[in-house]
Amino acid sequence: MLNQTQMQEMIEQAETDLLHTYNRYQIVLDHGDGGYLYDVTGKKYLDFCAGIAVFALGYNYPGYNEALKAQIDKILHTSNYFYNEPAIKAAHLMKKASGMDRVFFTNSGAEAVEGALKAAVKYAYTRDGHADHEIIAMERSFHGRTYGALSVTGNAHYREPFGNMPGTVRFAEYNNIDSVKALVNDKTCAIILEVVQGEGGLTPADPEFLGEIRKICDEKDILLIFDEIQCGMGRTGDMYAWQKFGIRPDIMTTAKALGCGVPVGAFLLNEKTAKSSLVAGDHGTTYGGNPFACAAVCKVLEIYEEDHIIEHVREVAPYFTEVLDSLVEKYDFILERRGRGLMQGLYFDRPVADVIRKAMDAGLILINAGSNILRFLPPLVVTKEQVDEMAAILDGVLSEIK
Ligand SMILES: *Cc1c(COP(=O)(O)O)cnc(C)c1O
Repeated sequence: MLNQTQMQEMIEQAETDLLHTYNRYQIVLDHGDGGYLYDVTGKKYLDFCAGIAVFALGYNYPGYNEALKAQIDKILHTSNYFYNEPAIKAAHLMKKASGMDRVFFTNSGAEAVEGALKAAVKYAYTRDGHADHEIIAMERSFHGRTYGALSVTGNAHYREPFGNMPGTVRFAEYNNIDSVKALVNDKTCAIILEVVQGEGGLTPADPEFLGEIRKICDEKDILLIFDEIQCGMGRTGDMYAWQKFGIRPDIMTTAKALGCGVPVGAFLLNEKTAKSSLVAGDHGTTYGGNPFACAAVCKVLEIYEEDHIIEHVREVAPYFTEVLDSLVEKYDFILERRGRGLMQGLYFDRPVADVIRKAMDAGLILINAGSNILRFLPPLVVTKEQVDEMAAILDGVLSEIK
């Protein structure tokens, strides 16, 4: 165990050696257990961030670590010149969970978005014989930091310093079907959106909005891409957030909780899209779909099914929502709650940085989404007792705000 000074020295070392692209909290994490994290000084935190919606199963979930260790002793990597058993099994389980037809494994969410965009553009190219197509994305969306993913991210501040983005992307207002219709033209090849916006403020899509978009896509042979990287994998009470409404995408991205800590993502296509988009030579990745990452995916999906993880979300989420609503009720400076299931945000009339810092001091990890929104992404296995524990700590912090 280290003392406070030693932890501070580690942080100074980090700030000397790592490129400063994050303003990190002044904590060096050491290990996790269940729904709790511990820093290198031994301080314990209740975790309502879950590695940004990654640790759906919390830490040390029974059977998960063992499955990874077993795969390490077999083989970690094969390259995509060969087949491997975990990838074959993982793809099959993912098809079953999503109802999609084809899977391409990536190493991250941004890469899943890149692949989804390439698949959509290639589909239109195959049909039309030219490649000057356009994509419609949403304002306040977040799809990742690589050039392609950034090009569809609806935050001008993230894009501005990096100049021309690949392709032509037009931004519509989320949940405003007229603003989408106004952008559709003969060149439009895809519409991409999050079924619940994550970074942009925990805003769920209206089912009518999704239905109208699906209709436009069907009429004009435009591909609908749902980014389920944050809202997927059971977080909203359905395996994928769109499943609640039965409005199917042509292409879907997933990552974050897919590996529950092992970096892995995927994009999935329906057969119509797969049949006339990416073919051999069009796309690839060295690590994507390697046996280690896919062993994690297999184990995660097995656990979801055997231990009824989504049923648990459905049971605990209404209680969680009620607890958050009572905070909105109690404090004037909290304007509203937004979200679905275990993906929630509280909108403040002021920056939340101070609340987050004080909560951490009191042993609760929360993050923000934009400067004024407090974001809650607990592990999906969170208990009602842990919701109470969170609320007690947060209430203590909030009660001191003047
Ligand atoms: C996190 C996130 C991404 C990017 O995933 P990375 O693994 O960070 O590249 C893309 N889309 C959404 C909705 C996300 O929340």
